[in-house]
Amino acid sequence: MYTVAQLIGGVWGAGGDGGELVVFDPADGTQVTSAPVATADEVGKAVAAARGTAAQWAATAPTERAAALHRAAEAVAEAADELAQATTAEMGKPLADARAGVDAGIATLRQYAELAATRGGRTLHGDPAAIDFMTPEPRGVVAVITPWNDPVAVSCGLLGAALVTGNVVLHKPSERTPATGWLLARAFDAALPAGVLSLLSGGPETGAALAAAEVDVVAHVGSTAAGRAIATAAAAGGAKVLLENGGSDPMIVDADVDPIWAAGQAAQGAFANAGQICVAVERIYAHRDIAEDFVAALVERAVALRIGPGRQPGTELGPLVDRRHRDQVHGQVTAAAADGARIRTGGTLPDGPGAFYPATVVDDCRHDMTLVREETFGPVAPVVVVDSFSEALRCAADSPYGLAATVLTGSMSHAQRAWRELPVGTVKVNAVFGGAPAGAAHPRRGSGQGFGYGPELLDEFTATKAVHIEAPGGGHW
Ligand code: NAD
Repeated sequence: MYTVAQLIGGVWGAGGDGGELVVFDPADGTQVTSAPVATADEVGKAVAAARGTAAQWAATAPTERAAALHRAAEAVAEAADELAQATTAEMGKPLADARAGVDAGIATLRQYAELAATRGGRTLHGDPAAIDFMTPEPRGVVAVITPWNDPVAVSCGLLGAALVTGNVVLHKPSERTPATGWLLARAFDAALPAGVLSLLSGGPETGAALAAAEVDVVAHVGSTAAGRAIATAAAAGGAKVLLENGGSDPMIVDADVDPIWAAGQAAQGAFANAGQICVAVERIYAHRDIAEDFVAALVERAVALRIGPGRQPGTELGPLVDRRHRDQVHGQVTAAAADGARIRTGGTLPDGPGAFYPATVVDDCRHDMTLVREETFGPVAPVVVVDSFSEALRCAADSPYGLAATVLTGSMSHAQRAWRELPVGTVKVNAVFGGAPAGAAHPRRGSGQGFGYGPELLDEFTATKAVHIEAPGGGHW
């Protein structure tokens, strides 16, 4: 059982007048965490305290800030097992996946510690007697509002990039993973000067208060609806907004690929982390020539997954984050079935404790069904049969989201058309989770705005200043 404390103005245990937040283990319903809820007043005080330390941290040499981030990475590495266990206890994912998320977070911290110290501005070529250059400066006070689905990896990226570029940060982790956020803040705080990082706990109201506060940047990873509310709130105070939001990523299965291999790719994309990944495969457009064999192989994959508590070794499919979310997923599946789709496997609520949901394959779907158009965020693979690659591309492109897309094809010309024509941030050809290190993209439409990852995230957290210096009276110094 975790008892979370807030960190405000460098003091642990401050605030919490907004009540108590309780988290239950999604595998068995037992209580895991108790956390305080920050009031809007506490948020305001935390922002004011953070602003008080901003100038000093901004003036700290970049190499010193980088060294502090290296120390933070070490502290997170020392707490890695504990962080992975807390993640699994709070949101249910298999322990090995949770540990991989922590390791990814540590690697990102180390990368930002190395990169930040070497990133500068540029010199300009003006009057030879003058000095002209452009230099990045910290933006000031950054609010970081994060989700529960991969809490350590996502938080480390934003916290690391914002801190190492000289900003002070207020972090509000998800109300579904507050203990994970608290353990992470403890590790960071041990490596940083007091007051540089604050931790606020609570739900959407606390997040909304933070987005509306006098901060310079609000970085939000989470749902599209919350991202839009945050952008509206932040607009009033003029804060810059970075949004990495929901997706409804398509997978296209072309006529010329091996349907068994394609089913393996689809299963990985739709069922990993019980489908609770922003770039999970949310809708599949399968060419009629291979659709039947593809769906049969996908059903086999779904049925074979070992379902169980995330802490149990060998579990491949943990529970969903909670029953509220499970009801939402199940509601979309049953609505599609009522509208003519066919559930080939799964689609039923299991008896017993927890928020388990089986890997589900639904075919005979239409492109206009909510199950296909909206983000489901569960282990559900809806299949729409198409008659041509052009039809698949057209459907894949027609979405309120624009995060990523996967195309399985043996045709180079189809691969070329796909990356040019799909209006999304990331296009992956023949590898559902493929991509090179340091890749970063701009999400489109409902999926957000700005770079949320990669070296470019360091630029998002700085403001560039242009400087011109010449001697008085046009003479010499
Ligand atoms: P969520 O937006 O409900 O919650 C995320 C955070 O935002 C939480 O800390 C929450 O308290 C806060 N929040 C919610 N409403 C708010 C409001 N009105 N004002 C301020 N803060 C608010 O999302 P979630 O359910 O935690 O996460 C799942 C979503 O996150 C999915 O849509 C998924 O696709 C998305 N996600 C996107 C990425 C990406 O990189 N694009 C990565 C991970 C998750």
